[in-house]
This record gives sequence, C-alpha cells and structure tokens, in this order.
Amino acid sequence: MTKPIIGILGGGQLGMMLCDAAKEIDIETHVFCPDDDCPSKGRSTYFSIGEYSDEEKIIKFSNSVDFITYEFENIPIKTVDFIKDQNKIRPGKQSLLLTQDRLTEKRFLDKLNIPIAPYKDLKTIDDVISAQNEFINSIVKTRTLGYDGKGQFNLRQSDDPNKVFNRIVSKSIIEKRIPFEFEVSVIIGRDINNNTTIFPIGKNIHENHILKHTFSPTNLSKNQINQLVDYSEKIVTELNHIGVLAVEFFITKDQILVNEIAPRVHNSGHWTIDACSVSQFKQHMLCVSGKEIKQPMLNNSAHMINIIGEEINDWCGKNNTDRLKIHLYNKKEAKKGRKMGHVTELFDKGKIF
Ligand code: ADP
Ligand code: MG
Repeated sequence: MTKPIIGILGGGQLGMMLCDAAKEIDIETHVFCPDDDCPSKGRSTYFSIGEYSDEEKIIKFSNSVDFITYEFENIPIKTVDFIKDQNKIRPGKQSLLLTQDRLTEKRFLDKLNIPIAPYKDLKTIDDVISAQNEFINSIVKTRTLGYDGKGQFNLRQSDDPNKVFNRIVSKSIIEKRIPFEFEVSVIIGRDINNNTTIFPIGKNIHENHILKHTFSPTNLSKNQINQLVDYSEKIVTELNHIGVLAVEFFITKDQILVNEIAPRVHNSGHWTIDACSVSQFKQHMLCVSGKEIKQPMLNNSAHMINIIGEEINDWCGKNNTDRLKIHLYNKKEAKKGRKMGHVTELFDKGKIF
C-alpha cells in the first residue's frame, strides 16, 4: 500500500518536528519552503524550494501530495488560493483567515462571547489618548505578522500620544495590559469526525516576550480546566479546524482571558514529544491524514526550556539522559532571540506545577 503524503507549507522547526512525527505513523512528507537551509531540510521525505508567490510551483507541489498543512499562520492567503482542491488543506483557509490579523481574531472571540483583554483598533491619535485614560497601561501590537513580541511596545499613561502615534508603522491595535497571575496554553486536536482531544494544560513563562518555560501538568482547579477546555472547543468547532491548535490564556485572580490563537502546533506543546503517549506533532498529522485521534496520556510530568540565541553553545554535543531530552533545530546562525532548540526535563508523573 502506498503511504499517504502530507505537504507542509513552511520549513521551520515546527515543520521539522511534524516530519519526524510522520515517520512514526507511516506518513510521507513534502516540505515547501523558500529557504533551502531550513530546519526541515533533510527531515522530510520530499523537499521543494520555492517562493509562496510562485503559482506554478505551488500547484505542482499541491498535486504531488494527498493533504496539505502549514507550520506557521502567516502563509499568504493568495498561496492557499492557488491550490485547486481546497479540501486537501487541513486546517482549512478559515483558520488562517481568522488568526492572521489580531483585530479579526479578537472580533471572532467577541462573537463567541469568549473573554479577552479590552482593546481598541488604533486609527487616530484619539484612540491612543482614550486607551491611556481607560487602560492606564497597555500594549500596542501590530495586527499582522507579529511573533515572539515582535511589533509590540508598551504604552503608558504618561507617554506623549503624538510620539506614540508617530511610532506606528503598520495597522495596529492597543490592548490593555493584564495583571495576570500566570499564563497557560491549551493544545487541542480535532479530527475529521469532530473528535477533540486536549493535552494536559501547560503553564508558560515568557522572558523578553519569548516563551522560555512550559510546565505541565498544572495545579489549576477543575472549574478553571473546564472553562479553558470549553473555550478551546468552541474555537476549534467554530473554525471547523482539522488538526492541532493552541490557545494562549491569561489567568487573573478572577478571570480567564484568551490572549491569542495559533492555528497550528505550538512551542508550549513541545514537551509532549517526550512526556505523552502521543505528541502534538503526531496528533496533528493523524488529524490531517483523516485518522481518528485518541486522548493523549501523560507518561511524565515535564518542564520544557527553550534554548535561545547563544545559549545553544551550552547544549551542542550534549547527550540525552533519562531526565533530559535535547532537541536542536540545526539553525546556522545563533541570532539574538532566535529559538535554536528546546530541552524537556522529565519528572515522575505525580508532580504538579
Ligand atoms: P506573540 O504573537 O508575539 O506571541 P502575544 O500577544 O502572545 O504575542 O504577546 C507575547 C507575550 O507578551 C504574552 O505571552 C504575554 O506574556 C505578554 N503580553 C501580551 N499581551 C499582553 C497583555 N495584554 N497584558 C499582559 N501581558 C501581555
Ligand atoms: Mg503569543
């Protein structure tokens, strides 16, 4: 029997780990990426180099695979539209359309009555002034293409609104700064039969706006977990999302707010490779290939640490141990703030963070 081939748009570390997971479940992969030197190169069964704007190459790529998925949410919609058979694309275009723009995403969450941080569409200087009055402390965020805190800056009540307004280079929103107690994320999978599964919830710590640590499982109450799961299920069902999706949340003293949605596998789910019966990557590939998914079981409690920039030098050449599992992304240059790998520290299953 021939193996199904899943095409992956994008060749970063998420693509790399999707390719590795596919091998375990007898699925072949075909990565399409503009960068010949990306982490997925050498890990996929097939590899095509090309620009996302190259219609001919995208059509050829899409004809060579059974299903198509993506490893980042900023794939141009135009690229997705080149693909003749839209049913091959899992998750579908809807998941991209609603999450590529923070404003569209927030309106979608408002429509679902899911609580989020108060925000304003930033159009005029008056929006800056009213945010300063209403929110006191806030964050200006670009509507599109931001990640790892890129395209964001703090806005204080005392800042000169003229200077703030002049600093804005692309369409942005202003969001109230939330004094959260901690952040968590839910990694949810949904298959073609509308079965949903949730990985144990992870508590996240960011440093310089970049995820640094994830701990799982957490000491959240039953009520909190039910609420987090309910919001996440609403989101995937409404999007008709097929595959894995991550929802980032702020937990305050008395509220649960969605921060943002990532329509893909997520950095805060990397620990599942070493600590669960099925990883987020395998779960995603099962969903995309039309297989039924099962509830992941926790084998170990886990702490994931991101290896960022020059920190890679401390990990190169080190071997895995029973307790530490090292994953390096084979990126050539250790730029400041660049995710170079991650380590998962395993604990006995009873440990709760
Ligand atoms: P990115 O797309 O870069 O991940 P996020 O909106 O998730 O952007 O912001 C990155 C991090 O910055 C968040 O995980 C959180 O730690 C902090 N942050 C973002 N928005 C807020 C907010 N409204 N209040 C408090 N902290 C925030
Ligand atoms: Mg985020």
